[in-house]
Amino acid sequence: MKVAVFSCKAYDKEHLEKFNNGKHEFSYLTPHLTKLTALLASEHDAVCCFVNDQLTSDCIEILASVGIKYIVLRCAGYNNVDLDACEKQQIKVVRVPEYSPYAVAEHAVALIMDLNRNIHRAFSRVRDNYYLLDGLLGFDMHGKTIGVIGTGKIGICLIKIMQGFGCHVIAHDVHPNDKVKALGVEYKTLNELYTQSDVISLHCPLNADTHHLINDTSIGKMKKGVMIINTSRGGLVDTIAVIKGLKSGQVGYLGLDVYEEETDLFFEDFSNTVLQDDVFARLLTFSNVVITGHQAFFTREALDSISKVTLNNLTALESGDLEKACLIPLS
Ligand code: NAD
Repeated sequence: MKVAVFSCKAYDKEHLEKFNNGKHEFSYLTPHLTKLTALLASEHDAVCCFVNDQLTSDCIEILASVGIKYIVLRCAGYNNVDLDACEKQQIKVVRVPEYSPYAVAEHAVALIMDLNRNIHRAFSRVRDNYYLLDGLLGFDMHGKTIGVIGTGKIGICLIKIMQGFGCHVIAHDVHPNDKVKALGVEYKTLNELYTQSDVISLHCPLNADTHHLINDTSIGKMKKGVMIINTSRGGLVDTIAVIKGLKSGQVGYLGLDVYEEETDLFFEDFSNTVLQDDVFARLLTFSNVVITGHQAFFTREALDSISKVTLNNLTALESGDLEKACLIPLS
């Protein structure tokens, strides 16, 4: 299979080559896939894409016109793909449904603990030869209530880790899971979860129902000083609302690995330019906000797994053995 790999970084190339053994032919392209770059996919059978590629209907129409038959996502989420347009153009879409849920759950825990114990502030103080502890007071995780929204693969990993801390974990999911109930976790309505949780961590997909799930109204229902963690998708959080919550103290801590306007920001080097996004700039002014640039998935094990599943998907599509491909159902 001839595959145009968009948004390609050195580590993507390294991991795809590691397991390919010359089977598929990759063109490694650094630009994001958008309607403006879609023609670069000419003379390939498939495009291989990541979270910030923009597979809009315009883009998919161009892909179809140059003969692309497959969209091969090297990620789990597919909110950036217009599936109706794929169906119309008869383009099959596959993804990596699971690579390392541990990687993302463990990153969520890293954000929680960094915010709780002020690790980011403490480290800069120590580097400044400044050792006063004022402002660094944390809290015991033991006994705190953690509200997990979305109890799929990543949510369950987080639940188990937080139970190891001695936390009381409650959850909300549109499809409650018996495995989660067996862990002693009680499913709650969103309102109950908002009012009872000390820490709220988001692990549901971004879709029409979950867009801006965290907004003025939901924040208003939360405990004063709540910690909100988002390692899922940026659009789950209304950034303006959360800034308002941070200014009033209603939100006590915010940990983000994703941001609703991250597409033109994350995964690039802008260190020699002026940050143009004033909302993002405001977020960066709060000492109780920690942001990472969509790196929760970024472990050696996850990259190996992404590469293996992507290669399996390509081989299954090429051989027509669709049962072995992780197809996204088109309606
Ligand atoms: P999953 O499909 O295993 O679980 C998602 C869960 O969310 C399911 O149990 C589903 O029923 C639930 N859900 C769906 N709609 C909901 C709603 N309206 N309210 C509450 N729950 C709802 O997915 P996963 O592998 O656990 O991944 C979760 C999310 O993490 C993905 O959607 C993806 O966006 C994100 N993710 C981020 C990174 C990163 O690097 N930051 C990496 C991988 C995945």
